[in-house]
Amino acid sequence: MDIKRIERSRLPETDLENLKFGRVFTDHMFLMDHVDGAWQRPQIMPFGDLELSPATLVLHYAQTIFEGMKAYRNEKGEVALFRPQANIARMNRSANRMCMPELPEDVFLEGLKELVRMDGEWLPEGKDAALYIRPFMFASDEYIGVKPSDGYRFMIFMSPVRGYYQEPLRVRMELKYSRAFPGGTGEVKCGGNYAGGLYPSKMGQDAGYHQLLWTDAMEHKYIEESGTMNVFFIIDGVLTTPSLDGTILPGITRDSILALARGKGMRVEERKVTVDEVVTGIRSGKVSAAFGAGTAVTIAPIRVVGYKGEDLHLPELQADSEVLVIGKLLDDIRRGRVADTHGWVVRAS
Ligand SMILES: *Cc1c(COP(=O)(O)O)cnc(C)c1O
Repeated sequence: MDIKRIERSRLPETDLENLKFGRVFTDHMFLMDHVDGAWQRPQIMPFGDLELSPATLVLHYAQTIFEGMKAYRNEKGEVALFRPQANIARMNRSANRMCMPELPEDVFLEGLKELVRMDGEWLPEGKDAALYIRPFMFASDEYIGVKPSDGYRFMIFMSPVRGYYQEPLRVRMELKYSRAFPGGTGEVKCGGNYAGGLYPSKMGQDAGYHQLLWTDAMEHKYIEESGTMNVFFIIDGVLTTPSLDGTILPGITRDSILALARGKGMRVEERKVTVDEVVTGIRSGKVSAAFGAGTAVTIAPIRVVGYKGEDLHLPELQADSEVLVIGKLLDDIRRGRVADTHGWVVRAS
């Protein structure tokens, strides 16, 4: 790997106390191009702008995929990644779906670790602080015909983030627009999925909701996800989440929560979850909790579900609720406070 270090770090003049999510970037980035059918010359260089032709294929047809993951500082002060192999495997599934070349796991992981070693000092102090890591790949051909690109660029950069107080979510059941549909690209992390979700999400925000509860495209009968997170409900005491049936993004947080809940002997179900059972269940008290799950926030409790103009209120999560116990366990594993029996934590140094 070629490494070119920055001459003077931007860290001293960066205010790590007051970070806006996703707006501050560390000193270095990883870059590798796919040329002539092979990944060439992995390198780390100072974070900076790219020069691209206006005809660059990705700018027109969105042949691009990404990942989102975090590095955490553990109790011993070491910086560690959480389940990076799962992100790499998912990125390669996304690559396949978008006709893009797979990434070699060893080069990807080594690039990640080296970046974290080089810019680890950017990880802020504090309870929920982390380095948010953004690997992504895009079609780099200068060509505006619609076809898979020949050339690709793969990059990784990092952004220091702090936990922020997040108020319990108000979500609206979306019964018109869809995020994903059978046979589409909903189960992979490709850029276009998110662009298409902006408009309905904005409609929801204008009506006073943080995000949407996406339902299936065919009948709007089944709940799929919450915003850009997976969604869980506690229904009759059973931790319930929609099964992965092709339109749901297989979240690593989702998978980790399920594994921990099963390990604790909780009753867990992955199955189709209907709009109806959630609406009537909140009214009757059968649904006792709902939350979103994803890397950015881990667990985001839902307090209000908007349904056809009515706000249905969920009870506040109690500190001893199973949901919060699992969220804390996940955080304790990431930060090395409890034994990592699943082998999820990968030290960078
Ligand atoms: C990334 C993502 C998630 C959550 O995945 P994690 O691996 O847990 O961060 C859920 N839904 C969508 C649509 C996503 O893009």
